[in-house]
Amino acid sequence: MLETNAAPAPLDLTGRALFPHRHLLSIADLKPWEIRFLLDEAEQWVRANRGHARKHDDRLAGMTQINAFFENSTRTLLSFEIAGKRLGADVVNMAAATSSLKKGETLIDTAMTLNAMYADVIVIRHGSSGAVRLIADKVDCPVLNAGDGWHQHPTQALLDALTIRRRKGSFEGLVVAICGDVLHSRVARSNMLCLAALGAQVRAVAPPTLMPPEVEMLGATPFHRMDAGLDGADVVMMLRLQNERMDGAFIPSPREYHMLYGLTPERLALAKPDALVMHPGPMNRGVEISSSVADHPERSAITEQVEMGVAMRMACLDVLTRGARGVEGWS
Ligand code: ASP
Repeated sequence: MLETNAAPAPLDLTGRALFPHRHLLSIADLKPWEIRFLLDEAEQWVRANRGHARKHDDRLAGMTQINAFFENSTRTLLSFEIAGKRLGADVVNMAAATSSLKKGETLIDTAMTLNAMYADVIVIRHGSSGAVRLIADKVDCPVLNAGDGWHQHPTQALLDALTIRRRKGSFEGLVVAICGDVLHSRVARSNMLCLAALGAQVRAVAPPTLMPPEVEMLGATPFHRMDAGLDGADVVMMLRLQNERMDGAFIPSPREYHMLYGLTPERLALAKPDALVMHPGPMNRGVEISSSVADHPERSAITEQVEMGVAMRMACLDVLTRGARGVEGWS
């Protein structure tokens, strides 16, 4: 469990506070006040993104951001690209399909190559847990983890926390049910740590075959039955079946899975009447979630999550480059 100590400094530090991390690799590295600090930082970008037709801010002008994605992505890559461009950085995307990894290059050689190009910030997604930290140790600039294997997806958890805080006000005592393929989900691992650190009561709801043994260590209470897990929940976060990470049969069939673990309007009725529905995307409609729930105009926060993703990634890129930009108070 993360410590829940108070911030060592006042919380209205936006733009000036020392953020004592070179990289953003895992929620486990962050103290609760550091998570809240990033949420506060992101608020200005929510306003800026909504408020102006011209969204450019030049604080990262002249800096090079490389998005190195060794695994497929739609919204995360696009979100980091938009975030970097709105901050004025020169953004370059490297996609796995066109990289030399396909030609047998080692991860360390790829890291050395990225480093030799004098990137100022590197965003990495990789299929292997721990690969992003390995690269981060070899390069001279901040690295942001955009998802490594089953392990972590820290900016997803931060954007989810921002979405929840804007809708629900605070985390204290909030019951959040994270449901589905928890075993293969980096989103679930980051969210369990993040929401527990912020004071929420986190439930991991999954069939026994898709429940990781370490959920309690990550701050969540395990539930094997959907009905019990949803009972009285304030937030219901659904997860995709990560078929690409499954080696063998973890579920009888998608149809049966939907019958037992799919979020239908009837199941959602077990949660609080104003419960929020979330999903990190991509969704498999009719498997983990039915369309009428996913598209519910008041209850679903799924497109809001995408919006918060851009704001949160702008905050992370800004904060992690402050040292290099010589922002006062940053080393
Ligand atoms: N987009 C999320 C991830 O990269 C969730 C998913 O793929 O299901 O982990």
